[in-house]
Amino acid sequence: MKISTLLQSGRPIFSFEFFPPKTPQGEAALFRTLHELKPLNPAFVSITYGAGGSERNKTAEWAARIQKEVGLVAMAHLTCVGSTREELLARLHEYAQAGVENIMALRGDPPKGVREFQPVAGGFRYAADLIALIRAEFGDRFALAGGGYPEGHPEAVSLEADLHHLKQKVEAGLDFVVTQLFFNNALYFGFVERARRIGIEVPIVPGLMPITDLAQVRRFMDLCGASIPGPLLSRLERAQSPEEVLEIGVEHTTRQAQELLEAGVPGLHLYTLNKSPATRRVMQNLQMVLR
Ligand code: FAD
Repeated sequence: MKISTLLQSGRPIFSFEFFPPKTPQGEAALFRTLHELKPLNPAFVSITYGAGGSERNKTAEWAARIQKEVGLVAMAHLTCVGSTREELLARLHEYAQAGVENIMALRGDPPKGVREFQPVAGGFRYAADLIALIRAEFGDRFALAGGGYPEGHPEAVSLEADLHHLKQKVEAGLDFVVTQLFFNNALYFGFVERARRIGIEVPIVPGLMPITDLAQVRRFMDLCGASIPGPLLSRLERAQSPEEVLEIGVEHTTRQAQELLEAGVPGLHLYTLNKSPATRRVMQNLQMVLR
């Protein structure tokens, strides 16, 4: 099932993001998490590709297993990192053979310790090039998503330039955008408004992450450039236990999600970090208010 079709239902769709684990224990834990979250009826789940140094040769296999063994629609991520055009084409054929119908097409981050992204010889510098390749070689075989940055991508020279580059990705063939995580809805609302003003019309799905571990989130923030509002940060810093951090994280994401849904967002994409409790709690809170 293509996510572009699901987004036309007129109702917000819910989705969860996971990364391919590197160990057999991690694999077992991910299956457990998937089965725990399945009863929440996500419209799709997405599986990353090499994000934060995670496994990239397993994305197609996980997408196939999620669809066949768990019975959920999967979106497989793909980045330009370290691959030539031909290697990307081979990867895309692998995705098609695995039954993948939805791809999140990204540039990817430079390797740890390297500041500037350098494409390999014969590879691509921007996600727009990958998107154009997929459309040229596969037509409408895949529904395509791309990344959007409410606070601007860390390397962008300005918010305007970044938005202009998002428009280029949409023109290259994106069906929808999923945003980087943010903790202040005003950033998302401003981003969507500016996007609409320059003619970006595709659905822009907000990405949310319930904070469960402050140190981990700080590392993430450094990487992706998203900010934590001061009052939320001081509450988290005062928390006395991991349980209290989780409480605060769930409460904040629930409030964000509720406000976004009331504003009529096309969906909510929750970054799970392969764990179910926080996502389950947020979804249960929302089901109570949506009832
Ligand atoms: P692009 O859209 O290519 O943009 C990268 C930078 O280049 C931006 O600053 C942009 O403004 C600039 N730019 C674009 N076009 C031009 C141009 N023509 N001229 C000048 N500048 C330009 N990473 C992973 O490794 N694996 C994953 O699975 C993964 N999943 C993600 C999921 C989501 C929802 C998001 C939002 C991000 C994800 N990332 C993932 C992180 C992503 O790879 C990084 O944020 C990366 O640095 C940028 O990728 P992009 O596709 O947004 O790049």
